[in-house]
Amino acid sequence: MRKHIVAGNWKMNNDLKATKKLVKQIRKSIKKADLSNTRVIVAPTFVNLATAVKRTKKSKIEVVAQNMHQASNGAFTGEISAKMLKSIGVKTVILGHSERRAYFGETDALLAEKVNAALENKLEVIFCFGEELSDRKENNQEGVVKSQIKNALFHLDADAFKNIVLAYEPVWAIGTGETASPEQAQDMHAFIRKTLSDKYGEEVANTVSILYGGSVKPGNAKEIFSKPDVDGGLIGGAALKAEDFFAIVNAF
Ligand code: 13P
Repeated sequence: MRKHIVAGNWKMNNDLKATKKLVKQIRKSIKKADLSNTRVIVAPTFVNLATAVKRTKKSKIEVVAQNMHQASNGAFTGEISAKMLKSIGVKTVILGHSERRAYFGETDALLAEKVNAALENKLEVIFCFGEELSDRKENNQEGVVKSQIKNALFHLDADAFKNIVLAYEPVWAIGTGETASPEQAQDMHAFIRKTLSDKYGEEVANTVSILYGGSVKPGNAKEIFSKPDVDGGLIGGAALKAEDFFAIVNAF
């Protein structure tokens, strides 16, 4: 059975004080929740990761990074390596978010390198991808998603997928208030699973968790999560309020 995952991507929000506060609130709210089959993840900014890791010890919250550099070390001013993340207790990294692709020029080829670096360092990867509005208008969403997955991941062997979570985030639904309908999400997730199955076989396809991201809120989470191929959510705006985030965690 696939684990459910509710992950809050805080993006470039929350300074140190706000990070401590939100972590504390989430810790408190999930204390009595039944999380036997749900992973609760938060992704603060780099500078607040170490604090968040310390303050979530002995709790069920996992702290993950939003990005990392592909090199192991060296003259890359301003960058952070997989080893550095590991050294402060981070076990998972988000890669390929559409904001990284759009604003920081991250290509499929670069992402393939980042994925390799993360896996070599035994970091789990939450790999994001998704089509733009123009792709959907041209009914080319499946083609785009397939090539994003293929170009960044299909050089891997089947075993690598034990440490990969996929996150389908249609760009047109991120931060816009416009969500993919539960049917649109299910259709795409089923397509992603079929794409995996064609390449790696059913066992791999059936064990990889596929998250949906894009304007998930307490009011729509239940319906989206009820779809058979949706294993959880990658939450932006609604993850910044403990109450909303907790409601989404409870939507399973
Ligand atoms: P929103 O939930 O704010 O639409 O953001 C989704 C997202 O980009 C999560 O990574």
